[in-house]
Amino acid sequence: MKYFIQIFGCQMNKSDAERIASLLDSLGYNAVEQKEKADFIFIVSCSVRQSAENRVYGLMSQIKKLKAQSPKLKVVLTGCMAMRKEVVKNLKDVDVFLDIKDLKTLPKLLNTKSEQAEIETYFSIKPKYESGFTAYVPIMTGCNNFCTYCIVPYVRGREESRQPQEVLNEVQCLLDNGYKEIILLGQNVNSYSPKLRTQGSGFRAEIINDFPDLLEAVATLKGDYWLRFLTSHPKDFSDKLIKVIKNNKNITEYVHLPIQAGDDTILRKMNRKYTVKHFKTLVKKIRNAIPGVSISTDIIVGFPGETKKLFESSAKTFEEIGFDMAYLNKYSARKGTKSYDLKDEVSDMEKKRRELVLTKLLRKSGLDYNKQFKGQTLEVLVGKKGKDDMWFAKTRTYKVVKFKSKKSLLGQFVKIKITKAGSFGYDCELF
Ligand code: SF4
Repeated sequence: MKYFIQIFGCQMNKSDAERIASLLDSLGYNAVEQKEKADFIFIVSCSVRQSAENRVYGLMSQIKKLKAQSPKLKVVLTGCMAMRKEVVKNLKDVDVFLDIKDLKTLPKLLNTKSEQAEIETYFSIKPKYESGFTAYVPIMTGCNNFCTYCIVPYVRGREESRQPQEVLNEVQCLLDNGYKEIILLGQNVNSYSPKLRTQGSGFRAEIINDFPDLLEAVATLKGDYWLRFLTSHPKDFSDKLIKVIKNNKNITEYVHLPIQAGDDTILRKMNRKYTVKHFKTLVKKIRNAIPGVSISTDIIVGFPGETKKLFESSAKTFEEIGFDMAYLNKYSARKGTKSYDLKDEVSDMEKKRRELVLTKLLRKSGLDYNKQFKGQTLEVLVGKKGKDDMWFAKTRTYKVVKFKSKKSLLGQFVKIKITKAGSFGYDCELF
């Protein structure tokens, strides 16, 4: 039997797909690269924006044709869309809707047996990592925050933290196999809360109570590697966490801190539970403690009630903070969330205009940050080969660099010299 996995959305979905693939392999299924050749198509879906759901609807119209040609083709939909009743009733060509937390029931659903040792939770399924040097390691799932625009707490459920020992075992195994970059994942990693004592030989037996404890325990594992984490909620980013980042050289100088809006009226409407003042103070503390740190953010434009005046206030905050990178999103109403019932009165054209205003500011702040590294020699991790001997790599601060080399460098740490700084990355040469 052959399977094909189509992934939409965030890194969490990529990580889920790695677990699905390993489970299917253990059932004797073979991965194929074209859906036309598959007996099973798995869709790992995303509901964060309507555009993400539309991509799944687009895929489903292709699948309808494939099913007409091969009636035995089976389709399994998992991820956020699988948990939305209004979606489920529209997707008639899906055979199984699977809550990812029930992944361990897949062998039963497919009427086969898994060779993987007892599967306790979906976290304990050993992933089939897509990369041989970068690994996403989920430490928790779900969210308790209920930002009014966000569907995640409804589709991923409440927060569930993974046992520290399981996380440490997975990372140690990755390091033993030469992995160079570990990215700890959670919808809100700062809320990690296992309340369990770490046990077992080989690791320090101590209490891991919160995210800084876990991060420090992972960061002190032996090896030559970079450690990152995604995503942090500004209300939970503690002084203890800043200290851990500062004191552990394996943790990179990169913090993704979603602001979502730069005005208190909108932040309140979004139920973000912090103020602009709190956010600015936090950024200042992080920048003071961690020299050279790069801070990126997410921000939504056109949230219901964001008048032109409130947007200007938000843009001013955005400019004052001077983010080193930002992911800009036009507000997309999600049925089932609190903000869905608010009037979405900002037109698409106006949302686009606001996005352009912020893009212009970002080009400037990104360039200001990047310029400080011109002429410097940095260590980077090579992640991708392009055409004509071009290589793409990431700095510790999560900036993209490109350079030419005839050598085979994929997955290696190399030294480069920055020759040109742009708003979103650098040109450089191999040192
Ligand atoms: S913190 Fe807010 S935006 Fe992030 S996943 Fe939770 S509810 Fe969604």
